Amino acid sequence: MHTHRCWLGTVLALLLCACEQREIPVHEFQFFAFGTLIELTIAGAESRSAQRAYRRIEKDFKTLDEDLYPWREGVLARTNRLLARGQPFTVDPMLVPMIDEATRLSRLSEGLFNPAIGALVELWGFTGGEPPQKPPPRKDIMRLVAEQPSMQALVFADRTLKSTNKALRLDFGAYAKGYAVDRGVKALRALGIKNAILNAGGDLRAYGRRGVRPWHIGIRHPRAPGVFASIEIDTDESILTSGDYERFFIYNRKRYHHVIDPRTGYPVRNAVCATVIRRSAAVGDATATALLVAGPDHWEALANSMGIDQAMLVDAAGNIHVTSKLRARIRFHVDPDRSIFTSVDP
Ligand code: AMP
Ligand code: MG
Repeated sequence: MHTHRCWLGTVLALLLCACEQREIPVHEFQFFAFGTLIELTIAGAESRSAQRAYRRIEKDFKTLDEDLYPWREGVLARTNRLLARGQPFTVDPMLVPMIDEATRLSRLSEGLFNPAIGALVELWGFTGGEPPQKPPPRKDIMRLVAEQPSMQALVFADRTLKSTNKALRLDFGAYAKGYAVDRGVKALRALGIKNAILNAGGDLRAYGRRGVRPWHIGIRHPRAPGVFASIEIDTDESILTSGDYERFFIYNRKRYHHVIDPRTGYPVRNAVCATVIRRSAAVGDATATALLVAGPDHWEALANSMGIDQAMLVDAAGNIHVTSKLRARIRFHVDPDRSIFTSVDP
């Protein structure tokens, strides 16, 4: 009797699974853009409309990537060339809202998110593709830091733009993925998609549900394979992480990575990754970068003044710092009161 009930239970569970899968088709699509894997997951839609949504997102992401990639011919590369001359020029209309919003976020972040430091990023060689082998000469870094390029140097008049700082080069690398994800989610909704995750290499926005369950999102461990925390989303939220493990090289046993402190011109040293939860992915993206630069002493005050109440930072010793609001909903897969490096090599 006992075994019989067990057997029945198993069959029931299997049946439930089958029903759920039949009722809630989940479509998964992948492609490359912004130097990373983009994953689109759609639940509860017909195959045809999911396919159509995927084609639209892929096209949109690839176009945006080409336009915004500063180191090859494209809208932003051309804009940077014209900015360097210091003369007014007619700016591409697609850039205007981006520049406006990035300027606002840069000011709000006390300049720690600074998309005007493209020249520094280029000097370091974090321009996509293979990472560089060694740091650039210190005097070149110091020269660019001394120029103090900032978004405040941009002057709009009619439809023209000019820079009062000739060292200013725009690089939206810390913000573009979030911007693309927000735009993508808007397009998905307009296409009638009710449940989806749009994930740009770990920076994602999720809305709706996966059938009867909320979306389950993992946060990557900065030094080991797998995730160190996870969270459930069933409304409409973005989760963005900025980390020193995305693009980096090791030189003389020191890690140099792609997030630069605009005040020193060097990669951030005292924090490993920062995560932000926000409705808007663009805002979350810029903020996650700013919090990483702010580091363990200032990240919480900055999050506060930027209006972020769900954020987390892992410092250079591997200690986890988390706001109380995020603490209440996040699930840690490691002991949050011990260094995340205890079992792995920093
Ligand atoms: P994220 O992964 O969102 O933190 O973005 C990192 C990218 O943004 C880098 O690869 C650079 O292109 C650019 N970047 C680096 N440091 C900064 C900074 N302090 N402010 C704005 N953009 C930055
Ligand atoms: Mg960012």
